[in-house]
Amino acid sequence: MKLAMIGFGQAGGKIVDKFLEYDERTGSGIVRSAVAVNTAKADLLGLENVPEDNRVLIGQARVKGHGVGADNELGAEIAEEDIDEVQGAIDNIPVHEVDAFLIIAGLGGGTGSGGSPVLAKHLKRIYTEPVYGLGILPGGDEGGIYTLNAARSFQTFVREVDNLLVFDNDAWRKSGESVEGGYDAINDEIVKRFGILFGAGEVNQGGTVAESVVDSSEIINTLAGGGVSTVGYAAEEVEQENDGGLLSRFKGGDDDDGMDSANTTNRITSLVRKAALGRLTLPCEIEGSERALLVMSGPPQHLNRKGIERGRKWLEEQTGSMEVRGGDYPVPDSGYVASVILLSGVHNVPRIKELQQVAIEAQDNIDEIRDESKANLEELVEDEDDELDPLF
Ligand code: GDP
Repeated sequence: MKLAMIGFGQAGGKIVDKFLEYDERTGSGIVRSAVAVNTAKADLLGLENVPEDNRVLIGQARVKGHGVGADNELGAEIAEEDIDEVQGAIDNIPVHEVDAFLIIAGLGGGTGSGGSPVLAKHLKRIYTEPVYGLGILPGGDEGGIYTLNAARSFQTFVREVDNLLVFDNDAWRKSGESVEGGYDAINDEIVKRFGILFGAGEVNQGGTVAESVVDSSEIINTLAGGGVSTVGYAAEEVEQENDGGLLSRFKGGDDDDGMDSANTTNRITSLVRKAALGRLTLPCEIEGSERALLVMSGPPQHLNRKGIERGRKWLEEQTGSMEVRGGDYPVPDSGYVASVILLSGVHNVPRIKELQQVAIEAQDNIDEIRDESKANLEELVEDEDDELDPLF
């Protein structure tokens, strides 16, 4: 499906930049337009693929291009004050050509954390197209303020979007890696998973006849109803079809075909299990998910209806949902068969409860320190017997 992507803040901008690179490399055609919004000029300058005209610096009067320093209340205020500047860039998007908006932001910081719910509310008021969020949760080692920012932004963002897709940095960070190197790998993972998911509704593979192609309306219907979503992924390398491949398929006897088809089906069902039970973008219990969508991507000769149908049924049993859709996304020149599972309307997410708990503790801590600091300063500045008078 075709998306208008808006990256808000540093993480959001970098991920949109990476989506553009993915789109260019794979020809998936999911990014119809890309906009990056920030209060920090340096972050916008660091982008490589977002067109310069689509980079919007907001809050210049307040923070002079230096960012909001993890103050997400200030991020939200600035977004409200300067929403016309953001709208100016969105006015250049041919909205009739997009299926949905996707606002991407790290929820632990200031600009994206505060600004993205404001933008979502604004877009929903103006357009009829769905407005989705892709919210990145901070790593547990980032500290209390980031957790508090994320917990507050999460509550607001969920309320303002048609669906909030979540990626949890904490579940994906690897120890021993530099933060930047770590983010590169994490951003690749984000772009791969969401790229295949949204690419599925944009099949444009030069006349390839798929068994049952996923349509963008199926993605939209899976996300409809709101709430929080997570995405699973698993892939297996397969032999690519060379020039002789088609011929050898015609030459193959019935036995070979039967064998191939059983292998294909088994591979698909095993990939579906791995994707659902492996690491999700937001780890959670899959049982109780309200809706799900299974996308099998890869060379068409490695996809079959039987495998997808079995995988879909298995997902129905595991989630307990009666609304599980499934289909294929043929990518003829791919060396992999991949399974992507979108679980929408998930409820049992221990990570969110833990995030909220840590956020509440951080909030109490901050209040306490603030009170103490007032008293401590008074004690320092005032002389013991109050013999001195300030000048004025
Ligand atoms: P903002 O510019 O004020 O919106 O804040 P940032 O986007 O710099 O940071 C917000 C949060 O996003 C951080 O706390 C990190 O958890 C996360 N983050 C920052 N950069 C990246 C990135 O490149 N990739 C990912 N996945 N997360 C990031």
